[in-house]
Amino acid sequence: MTDRPPKLSRRGALRAALATSVSATGVLGAAAPADSRAAAPHGFGGAHRAPRIGALNAQSAVRTLTVGDVRLTYVVDATMELDPVGFLPAVPTGYWREHPEQLTASGRIAASAGGVLVERGRRRLLIDVGLGSNVLAPSLGISHGGALLRTLRALQVSARSIDTVAFTHLHTDHTGLGFLRDDHQVPQPAFPCADYLVADREWEPFWRRQVTVGAPSWDDFMVPLSRVVRRFGDGDEIWPGVTALITPGHSPGHTTYVISATGGRRVLVFGDAFHTPAQITRPDWPSGPDVDVDAVLKARHTLLDRLTAPRTHAFAFHFGDQVFGRVVRDANGARWHPVPARPLLPHPIPPA
Ligand SMILES: [Zn+2]
Repeated sequence: MTDRPPKLSRRGALRAALATSVSATGVLGAAAPADSRAAAPHGFGGAHRAPRIGALNAQSAVRTLTVGDVRLTYVVDATMELDPVGFLPAVPTGYWREHPEQLTASGRIAASAGGVLVERGRRRLLIDVGLGSNVLAPSLGISHGGALLRTLRALQVSARSIDTVAFTHLHTDHTGLGFLRDDHQVPQPAFPCADYLVADREWEPFWRRQVTVGAPSWDDFMVPLSRVVRRFGDGDEIWPGVTALITPGHSPGHTTYVISATGGRRVLVFGDAFHTPAQITRPDWPSGPDVDVDAVLKARHTLLDRLTAPRTHAFAFHFGDQVFGRVVRDANGARWHPVPARPLLPHPIPPA
């Protein structure tokens, strides 16, 4: 952290106590077992659904994966279908002709948006907050969001029980539900007990209005965030066992979160360093919105080294219904290998 020491303030202690009391009382409901851990809500509805691998060309279900002592759940907010030419101009059109199974019926790339809930013990970290009421530029694709808080409620997770919100980057499909307008039309934090964390290298250029690509609303996001933001640097531990790895290029301070779990396991939440599994195999194919292609290629090189390390999982926001996986390397190069993850709820946005 570069501006304030994390977690030790009286306010922070108060927030932690509040978060604990909220999750220990009414939120989990009478049906929750006494020792509910954070586990109780997630057993909800999905306990008997076997883990399975979804389709790459489908919108993501609300899936959960436990790695060591950490549980990750994709809190799905939005449907997005990316235009393969508009969003990924570097990918030869012949690639899609050879892999029609990777496209939706309308010939687009299925890419949901949302947040990933990270739970350890009683603590809850939410990485990114979906698209909300934002929409993709028509040249990039079509979108419909706004389900994040509804999905959390369906999981029986109270917004007040989230102690930390951390952003991989500030694009509109990752920041949509950070703030909500109150009765006086004043934006207030959607997660009122959470610290809001952004990499310093991401915050500064957006706050100076040097970045326009994908920038969130000034009045409804940047200004209210400026009142509460806590900034961190490369390598900082932003939450117990979660370290920031700055992987710039898609945006100036784009951040990967490296989550350490018991047994020497790790999960990398790599944000938008990759938008589709094809880029794992062909890291030289950047994405249209990337602001610094050279930096993206360098970041991907670093990431692939880390992703192919033993006992390493990854979470990919936009990989269709295959958001949890590993990266394996063989004679043909690196490859996304989706892993079975339990579906708790179906994708929350009905088809248009
Ligand atoms: Zn994105």
